[in-house]
Amino acid sequence: MVSKVRLFVDHPLGEAQTVPLSRDQAHYLFGVMRLDQRAVISLINGADGEWDAEVIQASKKGGVLLCHTQTRPLQVPPDLWFLFAPIRKERTAFIVEKAVEMGAARVMPVQTDFTQAANRVRQDKLQAHAVEAAEQCGGTFVPPVDEVTRLDRLLADWPAGRQLMFCDELLIGDPVALPDSPGPWAILIGPEGGFSPAERDRLRGLPYAHPISLGPRILRADTAAVAALTVWQQALGDWG
Ligand code: SAM
Repeated sequence: MVSKVRLFVDHPLGEAQTVPLSRDQAHYLFGVMRLDQRAVISLINGADGEWDAEVIQASKKGGVLLCHTQTRPLQVPPDLWFLFAPIRKERTAFIVEKAVEMGAARVMPVQTDFTQAANRVRQDKLQAHAVEAAEQCGGTFVPPVDEVTRLDRLLADWPAGRQLMFCDELLIGDPVALPDSPGPWAILIGPEGGFSPAERDRLRGLPYAHPISLGPRILRADTAAVAALTVWQQALGDWG
């Protein structure tokens, strides 16, 4: 079976709603995917679920879609913030993609003491990766991707009641154990150089932060991101 093309649009979706296409979207649908009038695709906008929509106008520069039926409701992931220190460009994009696939509700790049690449992070590009990941994984929700924020500022302004799964590479070999504490939660992954001693001291002293091991080996930051999301989703998230 050929799967339907899925497209994110920044437009309301609903029965009999028409949706204009940008030039880039028209190029993708009619130039790259070779679709024509009457083709039916899936639309998402991050808010109204997934809709079947028919091409009713198609040209090289634009087009119009007509929504017919909702095929899936909006599925919002658990209230999980995903904090990570950006690394090299393509690996940072990978981390954002995996955070969306694995069901993070908000993606938050953080500048830590040993973060090298924070000033090269382009929020708009990372948000576009999040949209692509949602399109490809069948998601109906697109988490916002924040601008890079300093970790110390975030911690100073931490919301009451939110737990933090602090993935601490110094705990390698300890059992991988997460407290059975109700949400909301956040996950924190450090950069290639790990956390500085000052950061570790501070994090270990916070009542809402839970230092966690991710097994007996040191994982690369991008691997650790996927492992941490897996551990959290399995224990406390929507995988059960
Ligand atoms: N350079 C550090 C070292 O050699 O100890 C390793 C940093 S690791 C590449 C990047 C991040 O992944 C860490 O800061 C931590 O958040 C996470 N991480 C990797 N392996 C881990 C483990 N076994 N347990 C907990 N966190 C881990």
